[in-house]
Amino acid sequence: MSDEKRGWKSVELPEEIVVEAEELMRVKHEGRLTKVPLGLFISDLMRDSIEREQVGEKYQSLLEVYAIEPDCVYVRDNKRDVIAELRFKDEADLYCNIDAAKNCVHVGFAWSIPKVNLLIAKQKSRAQKE
Ligand SMILES: [Zn+2]
Repeated sequence: MSDEKRGWKSVELPEEIVVEAEELMRVKHEGRLTKVPLGLFISDLMRDSIEREQVGEKYQSLLEVYAIEPDCVYVRDNKRDVIAELRFKDEADLYCNIDAAKNCVHVGFAWSIPKVNLLIAKQKSRAQKE
């Protein structure tokens, strides 16, 4: 294709995905002064999910989700043979009981799980209301 931008490649996407992405962009960018091209918005989404997959690959054999509850995420650590309990502390930070830390490998792993991200977002909005 001759009209492709330098450093960009065209990819065909199903129409419904494009419509959903447009809708998401509209919601996320509401009130912003600068408008971002849809292609750039979709690339950011893609980059996030690619990174998430890469992290997932790296930790998959060592760490896995044991259970996700509204106020607690359980991560099985196959290397140490324990189950880490991650609870919400100080609003929406996850706190690991076995490392007594908010920045251990278990918390990092939990952050890579979309479902946990949803929980964190919920905790955040709850904390803001209180
Ligand atoms: Zn931990």
